Amino acid sequence: MASNGEPQQDCLFCKIVAGEVPATLVRETDTTVAFRDINPQAPTHVLVIPKAHYPDAASLAAAAPEVAADVLREAGEVAALEKITPADGEGPGVGYRVVFNTGAGAGQTVFHAHAHVLGGRGLEWPPG
Ligand code: 5GP
Repeated sequence: MASNGEPQQDCLFCKIVAGEVPATLVRETDTTVAFRDINPQAPTHVLVIPKAHYPDAASLAAAAPEVAADVLREAGEVAALEKITPADGEGPGVGYRVVFNTGAGAGQTVFHAHAHVLGGRGLEWPPG
């Protein structure tokens, strides 16, 4: 579905951006919000989203590549805040994963682009 970035009435993450649904914020910029996932899959599980509405990462990157870059940069900033970057040490629990589930078949359940930032424990590969 084409998207122009305008807020969507029935979008959960647009409501978080608008402050209509509460979330535990980690960081905010002019173009992005980072907040803790309500159902964390790792000690660090933060979602970084564009404030503008695009249904997935590919449509975000196509329509607003500078904002897609902001999301990626913020994922790194979150990891640094959480002290899970490779610079923070060695072993399981340092290093992190940035995931964009794209499409229901890949596990996407909220159709507003978002990066999962996961870390704080050893992460298996391949993922399930
Ligand atoms: P997806 O499955 O689309 O890749 O990721 C959506 C994520 O949003 C899931 O990890 C889910 O736990 C999280 N989520 C769903 N509803 C809420 C909510 O109301 N608040 C927060 N903070 N996270 C949510």
